[in-house]
Formats: sequence, C-alpha cells, structure tokens
Amino acid sequence: MELLKQRILKDGKVKEGNILKVDSFLNHQMDIRLLEAVGEEFARRFSDQKITKILTIEASGIGIAAIAAQYFDYVPVIFAKKTCSKNLDGVLLTSEVRSFTKGITYQIQVEKQFLVPEDNVLIIDDFLAKGQALLGLSDLVEQAGAALAGCGIVIEKGFQEGGKMIREKGIRLESLAVIESVSGCRILFRE
Ligand code: 5GP
Repeated sequence: MELLKQRILKDGKVKEGNILKVDSFLNHQMDIRLLEAVGEEFARRFSDQKITKILTIEASGIGIAAIAAQYFDYVPVIFAKKTCSKNLDGVLLTSEVRSFTKGITYQIQVEKQFLVPEDNVLIIDDFLAKGQALLGLSDLVEQAGAALAGCGIVIEKGFQEGGKMIREKGIRLESLAVIESVSGCRILFRE
C-alpha cells in the first residue's frame, strides 16, 4: 500500500533492537485518514470473505480494527485483554503470548460468549515481528471453534520470522507494508 509506505519512510524511526517507531501516525498519535485507507485496503483484500467479527489485541490494535470494521459492514470488534480484570467474569478463552518489544510473556483473554463457532474471524494487528501475538489470537479463534478467515497486518517486519511461520501454518496473511530490511536509518520494502 503505497500511501502507507510513503508515510513510514517520512515519519518512521528505526530504534535499537529492530524496533520501528511510528508514534506520529499509528501507535500514539493516530492519523485517522490513513487508518481509513488502511481499513478500506483490508476490506478490498478480504472481499472474497464474509467476515463476521474482527479480533485484535489491546492496545494499539483497537483503533485500527475499529476503523477497519466500518469497511466490513460494521462487524463487531473484539480486543483480547492482556490483564486479568474483575470485569471479565464470564467463561474465558485464554492463550499465552511472548512479547517481542517488552521481553515478557503474558496471558491474553476474551470472553467465550463473544467468539462463537458460527464466526468467520479476521485478525487485525499493527505489527508482525515474530508472530507470537498472531499465534495467540489464532489460538483463541481455534478454541472458540470459529473459522479464521485470515490476518491483516499494517506493518510486517519481513526480516523477522513471524510472516514465514504464519504463512507456513496455512494462515492467510495480508500485510499492507512489508519491510525487507533496515540498515541504519534506511528502510527497504519488499516488492
Ligand atoms: P510479534 O508477536 O509478531 O513478535 O510482535 C507483534 C506485536 O509486538 C505487535 O502487536 C506490536 O505491538 C509489537 N511490535 C513488534 N515489533 C514492533 C515494532 O518494530 N514497532 C512497534 N511499534 N511495535 C512492534
């Protein structure tokens, strides 16, 4: 997606440890027009699927998924929670995720009532690095007995193993910008 790539080149900052900072338009301040274009593009790529729910993970995925849902006929958005809250009082589906950016393992959870076997679920997230977040989210879909239509990722870091691992599992993966390499401050995209 050209608009997104240009924005990454303009405002993205490469940090130590292969972390790409996109705080000015995606992860802190959010550019809503860009996110509308992102949502539209996800809808175009998954137009062959009848999506019934979008699943994401807090916190950065929520805004992206909520805007994208408008292009999927306003389907409900569920976000997996990372902390055990007293508000989660129903039967829970849980999975474990190892965080690449924070270096910790945490549990993600959704209430079982919100993911049902009749659902055809699209998973959406901001970044794909080692694929642990996607694995945890797809595990929740499987536990619910629902169908997984695929995963929509805004920025895939193609030089980390997540994309290959997810595709090898037979999961459909649509990444709007795939970064092939970063050397110093130079960002190269996969064609
Ligand atoms: P994974 O589970 O694929 O290793 O990592 C995906 C999660 O880690 C995403 O939800 C995202 O929040 C975070 N993440 C991974 N790499 C980056 C990065 O380079 N920049 C930012 N901003 N977040 C990242």
